[in-house]
Amino acid sequence: MFYDINDDINDILKRLAQENITFNDKIILVTGGAGFLGSWVCDVLIKQGAYCICLDNLTSGRFDNIAHLMKEDNFRFINHDISEPIYFGFTHHPKGICVGEIKKIDIVMHMASRASPFEFKKYPIPILKSNTLGTMNALGIAKAHNALFFYTSTSEVYGNPPGDAVPTSEDYFGHVNPVGPRSCYDESKRAGEAFVKAYELQHKIKTKIVRIFNTSGPRIRSGSEFGRVVPNFIKQALSNQDITVFGDGTQTRSFIYVTDEIEGILKMVYKEEALGEVINLGNDKEFTILELANMIKELTHSDSKITFKPLPIDDPVRRCADLTKAKKLLHWQPTTTLKEALIKTIAWFKDNEL
Ligand code: UDP
Repeated sequence: MFYDINDDINDILKRLAQENITFNDKIILVTGGAGFLGSWVCDVLIKQGAYCICLDNLTSGRFDNIAHLMKEDNFRFINHDISEPIYFGFTHHPKGICVGEIKKIDIVMHMASRASPFEFKKYPIPILKSNTLGTMNALGIAKAHNALFFYTSTSEVYGNPPGDAVPTSEDYFGHVNPVGPRSCYDESKRAGEAFVKAYELQHKIKTKIVRIFNTSGPRIRSGSEFGRVVPNFIKQALSNQDITVFGDGTQTRSFIYVTDEIEGILKMVYKEEALGEVINLGNDKEFTILELANMIKELTHSDSKITFKPLPIDDPVRRCADLTKAKKLLHWQPTTTLKEALIKTIAWFKDNEL
C-alpha cells in the first residue's frame, strides 16, 4: 500500500468541515507541537489558516515532524521546555524568557509530555515537570491572555482499574500506585488535571481536559528505548525479529487511529459543550496484546516468532474507553478499525522508519 500523510490530514479537515469547525485566524499555542499528536494538530491548524505557535524542546518531539511547516507564514516554532516559564507579549519579565511580538493567544493546547512506559524509567523527572510545572506555566499563559486552556491528559489517570470499572468512564477516580514505576506519569497527569481545575476555580480560566487512550499511527516513535506496543511490534515484525509480548499477552488495550483522535481533540477544543468538561477520547473496542501481535504478524507477512517476556510492574490488566460522554457532547466516535489503522501505520513505517 502507498501511504501519503496528506490524505489523512485532508480527511481530518473534511470531517471538521462537515460541522463547520475551523480555527481560521485563531492564534494557538501548542506545547509539544513537534511530538506525535502535537504535530498532527499543527498540520491541521496550519491548513485551516490558524496562526500556530509550536513550542517544543525536541527531547521527545522531532524536528522532522514539523520541518515541512517551517516555510509557512502562519507557523512559528519555539525551541523551549514548557516546564521553564515563558511569556508572550512581554519584552522583559524577571521570571522567564519573553516572546514580545506575539501579543495575543486565543487558545493554549498543552500537549507536551513523554508518554511511553519505557521512558518512565529514564526520564521520570522531566515527565513530572512537564505535567506539573509545565501545566502551571501553560496555564499562566492562558491566564495572561484570557485564552481557552486545553489539557491533554491520559487514560493512565485511571491506573489499573478493576474489571467492573472497564470500560472506564470519566467519573472513575482511578486505582494508581503513587510510588510505582508508572507514577511519574500517572500522578503528574493527575496533578496536571488538578492544576487545570484550580486555575478554572481561582482565576476563572476556560478549560477542557481530554483523557487520551492508546493512540497510534504515522509519526509515532519506535525503538526499544521509547516505543509503544504498536510501533515496537511493527518494527520487530518488519525486521523479522521476535515479537516481544510482555506477560502472557492477555492484558488488553483499546487502540485508536491518530486521525480519529485528532478529529476528536479538535472537535473538543472547538465545541462550547465541552467547556469545563473532562472527556475520554479513545476506542471502545478492546483487544488483547496477543491478538495485536498476531494481527501485526499477519499483516506484515512476517516470519517473526512471538516470544514472551516478564510483565512490567503495574502494567494495567485491562484498558478500554467508555465513550458515552464523547458521543453525547461531541457527536464523535472513532471510525477506523484496528486493521485499517495497522495497514496504514505499517505502510508508513516501511517508508520512514526502517
Ligand atoms: N507491550 C508488550 N511488548 C512491547 C511493548 C509493550 O507486550 O514490546 C505491552 C505492555 O506491557 C502493555 C501493552 O503492551 O501491556 C501496551 O503497552 P504500551 O507501551 O503501548 O503502553 P501502555 O498502554 O501500557 O501505556
